Parts: sequence; C-alpha cells; structure tokens
Amino acid sequence: MRDIHQIYIDGAFVTPHGAERFDLFNPSTEDVIGSVRLGDVEDARAAISAAKRAFPMWSQTTKAQRIAVLRRFHDAVAARFDDQVAAIVEEYGAPVGRVEWMARMAATAFLEAAETLEAYDFDQTIGRAEVRMTPLGVVAAITPWNSNASFICGKMATAIAAGCTVVIKPSEMSAIQTQVISEALHAAGAPAGLFNIVTGRGDVVGAEFASHPDVAKVTFTGSTAVGKSILRAAAETMKRVTLELGGKGPQIILDDADLEAAIPIVVASGFMNSGQACVAGTRILVPETRMDEVLARLKTEVEAVRAGDPSDPAVSVGPMVSRKQWDRVQSYIRLGQDEGATLLVGGEGRPDDRRRGWFVRPTVLSGATNAMRTAREEIFGPVLTVIGYRTEDEAIAIANDTSYGLQSYVLSSDTDRARRVASRLEAGRVVINGAPHEPLAPFGGFKQSGVGRERGVFGLEAHLEPKAVLV
Ligand code: NAD
Repeated sequence: MRDIHQIYIDGAFVTPHGAERFDLFNPSTEDVIGSVRLGDVEDARAAISAAKRAFPMWSQTTKAQRIAVLRRFHDAVAARFDDQVAAIVEEYGAPVGRVEWMARMAATAFLEAAETLEAYDFDQTIGRAEVRMTPLGVVAAITPWNSNASFICGKMATAIAAGCTVVIKPSEMSAIQTQVISEALHAAGAPAGLFNIVTGRGDVVGAEFASHPDVAKVTFTGSTAVGKSILRAAAETMKRVTLELGGKGPQIILDDADLEAAIPIVVASGFMNSGQACVAGTRILVPETRMDEVLARLKTEVEAVRAGDPSDPAVSVGPMVSRKQWDRVQSYIRLGQDEGATLLVGGEGRPDDRRRGWFVRPTVLSGATNAMRTAREEIFGPVLTVIGYRTEDEAIAIANDTSYGLQSYVLSSDTDRARRVASRLEAGRVVINGAPHEPLAPFGGFKQSGVGRERGVFGLEAHLEPKAVLV
C-alpha cells in the first residue's frame, strides 16, 4: 500500500497542513492501492507565497539560464521513465503503449519549451516604442487524471520558459504519478519556490488558486463545467486564463475515402486513451451512400479491439479510471439506445472475460442523429456515435453543430479536398487521414472547448504581457 503524505513547497517535501486522506485505486482490479494526504487552503497559500518570493529572481534570469534548468528537468523526468509507466498503468489503467507515449511526452515537454524559448525574441521595436514581452507572475496549473504527469510537465515547462513561477494542483486521483514527477524535478535541482506542487481537492486547493490575488494566471485542463467556474473566479482579480476543456470531435469520412485505410484510423482516434481523451473523435460522420459498407467494416474493426489488462501490449482499451466514470459510460450506452440509436457492437456491462475492474465494452451506436444527447455530450469512454449525411455541406454543418470545438478529423483520398473541408471546421485542430501529433503547434479549442492555446510560441506568449516603452 502506498502512503503519499507529503507535498512539495519552496524546494522541499513537507507535511501538509491538511489532514484529509484520499484513497487511491487500481481501476483494473478495483482494489485500494494506497492513500494520499491532501493539502488544504493553508497549503495552497504557502505554495503561492513561495512562488511569489521566487518570481523576482526567476523573472530576471536569462534565456540560457532557463534553458539549462529546462534541460535538467527533461533529463530528470526521462530518467524516471519506467517508474512513470508503472505508476500510470497501475493508477490510471491506460494501455501500456499509450502510457509510454504519455511518459515520453512528460519529459520532452521541457525540451520543446527550451526549443521555443531559444528561438523566441522577447524584444521588438514597433514605431518609436520598444516592446518587451514580460512574464506574468505566479501561474497556477490545474491538471486532470487522464494524463496527469504530462500535463504537469507541459504546463510547468511553458510557464518557467516565460519567466513565471508555478503552483500546481494535480488531480487528486493521480497522486502516485505526481510523486514520481515531484521526486524527479526535485532531484534536478532548481531554485526554491520555482515550482510548488499541492495535491488536494479541486474545490479547496484548486479554488484557492483560481481566486487568490497573488496568482496572475490559471492554466487549467479539465471539464468544461469546472473551467467555467475558474473563469468566473479568475474574473475578480482579472487573472489571465488558459482553459483546455472538453470535446466531442467529429470524424468526417468523405465519400472518396479509402475505407481499408480509414476505418482503423477512425477507431484508433475514437478510442484513444481508452476513450478518456478530450481530443477523441467520437462522432463518426458517414456518407449515406457508403453507410452499409462503413458499418460492416466498423463492426469488424471494433470487434477486434482488445479491452482488458492495460499492461498487455495487445490491449488498446483499458479500464475507466473510476467507478463513477464506469457508471457514467454505462448510462450513455443505455441512453443512446433509449434515444433510438442502434447498438452496432459492444453494449452495457464488462467485456466477457472480465469479472472485476472498471472495464467497458468498446461500443458503436449507429443510426444516430446529431440532436441526440449521445451525439452532443462528452461521454469520455470508448463509445462512438455514427451519424449519416447526404452532402459535404451537410457533413460540415453537422460537424460544427456542437458547443465544442477541440479536435476534428477528416478522412479522404484527396488531401486538397480534405484541407478545404478542414478550413470550414470550427476546431482548434483538424487531423487529416490520421496525421501524427505536432507538439509545437498551438493546442486548444474553439467555443466551449476552451480559451487560449498551449504549446510552442502560442503557449509561451500566453504567459507574457507586452510592455511598450516610449523613449
Ligand atoms: P475535472 O474538471 O473534474 O477536474 C480537473 C481538475 O480540476 C482536477 O485537478 C480537479 O481536482 C480540479 N477541480 C475540480 N473542481 C475544481 C474547482 N472548483 N476549482 C478548481 N479546480 C477544480 O476534470 P477531470 O474529470 O479530472 O478530467 C476530465 C475532463 O477533462 C474531461 O471533460 C476532458 O475532456 C477534459 N480534458 C481536456 C483536455 C484538453 O486539453 N482540452 C485534456 C484532457 C482532459
């Protein structure tokens, strides 16, 4: 049993003032695997004070000094790769292939921030003004459980590169990953107060970060509902915010798509991270003229998806993170059928060979309309909804008929045509034919998928304030 009983403030592991205990589970077995002692409002304030004290020094560091620290963080996090993988599989249950990608991303986020910083010019002249991009101050980072370690590192790397200091409120359900990352960052050696990590409840530590007058910016990844509460709290002291929220991404299969190649991409994009991904493409838009063929192929492809033990490399869908999340996904599978959709494959309950664990049967609901709740609401599990369309214009209209706008997908044999469709989609990212991730490109959403962008130069500038000096 793990006993995580310290938080990280002002360059040291300390016992929190908060005394509440929170159980940690293995979602594959439903067993309690440990407990974490949660920080409280006093701990949140101590972290903010430490970050505030460190800011005047850190904001004056040179690019070279920051890059040196970012590289050390990279090396230290990369050195704990195996521990990270073990922690993520045990505590979150993502399939091991996905976990390795997440663990690599946690480390490389520091190198990417260093690369962006290296190329960035903080000074420019506009007319008679000397314009300098200046760091905002203390940045509060709040992360979700579906890729906790990589979100901690990504948010922290960008803030530090900009010259800000950081307080972090990781997901309370991800305390083992947070412990591995905290130990790695501590071992790297950095100025006290540069980063501070307080695991605690969202409505306690997170809410304090979102309202405290000494926090200049909140960078949050999580649900749209909590994102709205952060935006309201932040307004009081006019904090800058970056909000990365939910999604209900469309995957438009154009009528010229090569289905042999497209269907495996559609399934992988829909079920990524066991469906617990904000960027998952969960609405499958299919031309009516090819509906029968698409459904036949989808059924075969999804029946072959292995859902089960996340440490088995052949498995691509692991358990849901919690009982609550499992119940939620089950209720949507039921709801979809009540709303009039057809169960093409999957359904309620666990996969046949699973007696325990929060495992879900990979599911496709066909014959849906975009008005159904299963087509409009984020399910956050391996459940895809198939919607038919007649014309390309109608496909685009359905794709955009959502309150979200994070990541969309287009599948076509004609890349120029796919680009034209992409240009009309209301989404922060559009992926054509399964193109790979680009870490330096802006990441974030249109509409209620969020505010602002992370990563690369867009992410860096979201931590800077332009100051014009007229001489
Ligand atoms: P969540 O919003 O419940 O929690 C996210 C974080 O916010 C946690 O650390 C939580 O403790 C904290 N929190 C909760 N209440 C708070 C409050 N009142 N004030 C401040 N902080 C608070 O989300 P979750 O269930 O952990 O994660 C799933 C959600 O995250 C999904 O909706 C998913 O789409 C979204 N997500 C978005 C992205 C993206 O980049 N757009 C990435 C991953 C996940």
